[in-house]
Amino acid sequence: MKTIKPEIPAAGIMKTSDYGDSKYYRISCQCGQPSDDIILNVDVDDHGITVHTWTTVKTCWWKERFNTFDSIHNPLIYTLKRIANDAINRTTVIWQVLTKGYIEMEAWTMMDKQQALNFAHTLETAIADVDQFRNDRKTKETPTLLKPDNVDEVLTDTYKV
Ligand SMILES: [Zn+2]
Repeated sequence: MKTIKPEIPAAGIMKTSDYGDSKYYRISCQCGQPSDDIILNVDVDDHGITVHTWTTVKTCWWKERFNTFDSIHNPLIYTLKRIANDAINRTTVIWQVLTKGYIEMEAWTMMDKQQALNFAHTLETAIADVDQFRNDRKTKETPTLLKPDNVDEVLTDTYKV
């Protein structure tokens, strides 16, 4: 099997914002539908790394509820069938909310192997980058008075056992 490597720039991955400690990407679906895209945010704060994703989750709005009239190729019948089908699907969703309190939804983003690897690599490097940025900033913010050049020596002497 041919080994694939993450690409730079990465196909299917677009960096949209970079604030050092917070980076945003758009991972596009290969079908071209923007609502299938994943918006990825990798963020670091005092509690650690947060990976936040946004996408449009969907109900099974597309589900065919009945196959009656399939043999009749009439545009009017087709339109009426679509309207009835959509009405049933939407009512089913409303009914699920009323009776269960939740609805079943799903989201998918189609990627080929290369894009999936780029996605994984983007996440990996973004985590390392924001963490590094945070650590560098903490080091800069620490007052120099608290960091004498001989700090290791002082601590070793103070806490010597
Ligand atoms: Zn798609």
